[in-house]
Amino acid sequence: MSAACKMCGGARWARTFAARERQFALPGEFTYGECAACGSLQLLDVPASLGDYYPPGYYSFEVPAGGGPVARLKRASALAAVTGRGAVGRALGVLQPPPTAGMAHWLAAAGATPDTRVLDVGCGSGALLRAMDAVGYRDLTGVDPFLDRDRTVGRVRLLRGTVEAMDATFDLVMMHHALEHVPEPAETLRALRARLSAGGHCLVRVPVAPSEAFRRYGDRWVQLDAPRHLVIPNADALERLAARLGLALVERRHDSTAIQFWGSELYARDVPLSRADVGWVGKQRGRLRAARANRRGEGDQAAFLFRAV
Ligand SMILES: [Zn+2]
Repeated sequence: MSAACKMCGGARWARTFAARERQFALPGEFTYGECAACGSLQLLDVPASLGDYYPPGYYSFEVPAGGGPVARLKRASALAAVTGRGAVGRALGVLQPPPTAGMAHWLAAAGATPDTRVLDVGCGSGALLRAMDAVGYRDLTGVDPFLDRDRTVGRVRLLRGTVEAMDATFDLVMMHHALEHVPEPAETLRALRARLSAGGHCLVRVPVAPSEAFRRYGDRWVQLDAPRHLVIPNADALERLAARLGLALVERRHDSTAIQFWGSELYARDVPLSRADVGWVGKQRGRLRAARANRRGEGDQAAFLFRAV
């Protein structure tokens, strides 16, 4: 295994381990390395046909625009996360954190106003941007290579493509749980930085190593998500790489959730995530453990707010 670490350039793996695809129980075995220098995890044998591991239904591009109760609840949940208000949304968010979870804090930290030019990289159906539209943000763009076509929903422009191919400038560029899926994370970070206005902010949310869940569950850790997660950065290494690219850290918060524990427990019992549930009690127990892990900086994912320098 001669590949270099994509976070730090290190050429030696402290150890390697095998992992299986466990979300859908697809066949195959994959090898991850743990960088001896920085502790990042990296898939060493990326399948040639990676698209085969994104079965229909992996991505949700459905826009919950209807008037039914589920669509209304989803919208309420997204709104509560962006504004920090709304009892129904908050209650739903506790049971199933939306993609917008925690956004009220990050928008405030980035000094966002209704005129802030916002780009969401890997936006999917644009759920977060549509929630921001609903609370008054006016300049909203999403880009995702898996969209079937460009479209406009309200004030949200959704573009089929990659950030590397864009040339507009934005005040806030976000990437929510997408950096771990790209083949060259340093190049993607460089592209995020290139899209920023002077003093603009960049929010990156990503699974990180080390964590309590990875230490405990190893190759059964649910957020390893072999082979879709190509690089899982060490949190400090990500900050150092970003600094080299002109992105200074403003704030890091571990924002891991219950699934790191209950999902990993399922995998430890060889149960695919797509075919089981642990029920309400199991999820509440996981929530408490996640909150403790986050406070110690050992949650299995984190949000990083950077500023262009
Ligand atoms: Zn490394």
